[in-house]
Amino acid sequence: MSGLKLYNTLSRKIETFTSIAKGRAGLYTCGPTVYNFAHIGNLRTYIFEDVLRRVLEYDGYQVTHAMNITDVGHLVSDADEGEDKMEVGAKREGKLPLEIAKKYETAFFEDLKSLNVELPHKVLRATDAIKEQIEIIKTLEQKRFTYKDGYAIYFDTSKLPDYGKLSGQKLSDKKTGARSGVIVDTKKRNPADFALWFFLAGRYKNHILHWPSPWGEGFPGWHIECSAISRKLLGQPFDIHTGGVDHIGTHHTNEIAQSESALGKPLANFWLHGEFLLLKEGKMAKSGGSFITLKTVLDKGFSPLAYRYLCLSAHWRSKLNFSWESLDAAQNALDNLYEKISELEGSPSIAMCDDYARAFDREINRDLDMPRALSLTWRLMKKPNPDKLKLSTIKHFDRVLGLDLLKGAAERKKIPAEIKELAARRDEARAKKDFASSDRIRKEIESEGFQVRDTEDGTLIRKK
Ligand code: AMP
Ligand code: ZN
Repeated sequence: MSGLKLYNTLSRKIETFTSIAKGRAGLYTCGPTVYNFAHIGNLRTYIFEDVLRRVLEYDGYQVTHAMNITDVGHLVSDADEGEDKMEVGAKREGKLPLEIAKKYETAFFEDLKSLNVELPHKVLRATDAIKEQIEIIKTLEQKRFTYKDGYAIYFDTSKLPDYGKLSGQKLSDKKTGARSGVIVDTKKRNPADFALWFFLAGRYKNHILHWPSPWGEGFPGWHIECSAISRKLLGQPFDIHTGGVDHIGTHHTNEIAQSESALGKPLANFWLHGEFLLLKEGKMAKSGGSFITLKTVLDKGFSPLAYRYLCLSAHWRSKLNFSWESLDAAQNALDNLYEKISELEGSPSIAMCDDYARAFDREINRDLDMPRALSLTWRLMKKPNPDKLKLSTIKHFDRVLGLDLLKGAAERKKIPAEIKELAARRDEARAKKDFASSDRIRKEIESEGFQVRDTEDGTLIRKK
């Protein structure tokens, strides 16, 4: 193997990954803001990060995967304006912010589990790391990177000539993020400056969550939590920092500014950003109407792993346009794959189809090329290799794909012969354009607790 190649946002190049400590990799993932369910756009990013972690593990790294949970301080606009999202959620449901946080944190980890996303080894909530956040702000103050007004302590971005190095944006290009109708309370010196600590003043006079600090009661800004939590859980610098592309210009830029100014060394060596999932109407957002959750997907009869399959079929650095038709196609492809695997005889051994295993290695290590890894899986199924070898190769691939390929195939084997027979009869009826019979047989199959799907290869049956 020639080494793992990854596109690093910081250098804007594909680089060969080398870790700080031999054989170990520290991976930090920005966690969810737990004021609502995760939408499937958020989940696309966590699936990409899971693939990255699985490839590192496949390559033999001992990975420490850390994540924060944002349960305070993330305002409705990234430009330090508007309400705290947690308070928006609390008002919506007539509960306290921490009750809301608990509810949606639990739901988030349930979503990850059903998508076969490996859970982080270390998780820390922003509200459980207040002391660590205050420590960094104190250091920044001592080093004169801060100033304050009656509302907050700010980071002074003009003190940092390379502030925009992650996004490539010049400081002078950075405009204030104010939208019409948003009242800006601050006296920020530069539009890019950002709050490290908010006081209980102005808009935040009645902020429910607050803590004592050397500067008075208040609560932390959003970005400081990731600087404090990543340092506490992984040290500084660590190997890889990830998130969605929306984090490049503000959140991650500000994390770098804080952590590097406070400690005088890099925050992370590799920065990977997953591209967005888009809807026809544009961006998916928790605050907007276009909000599809994993539950919506399940309620429509799809399996969570069909969504994982759909995500794997697009490169992590390409935008993915979501449609129900594309999810339907992904479900069919996954079920067909299970079906083909279920037709293989025997059980997996150690020996594999070596040429395929080598090709798989190559694709996943070439900037995590999962679309090609998937098509390789299909090619393998179509080749006349011995079944046992194919089975062990599939098992090997699934360490990274995470599609439960052998389990899914075993489930398909459990479909009773009578039901398969009905499906074959339905295909015959359809071929003769006898739609009355085909509809009757569909109902019969459904009444036995199975779902009927029409695919290019004919009727496909799934347990409901
Ligand atoms: P949040 O819960 O809003 O803090 O976001 C959680 C993760 O989802 C972050 O890594 C975001 O960058 C990412 N994200 C937000 N919207 C999308 C989207 N439409 N597609 C992909 N990732 C997204
Ligand atoms: Zn973060």
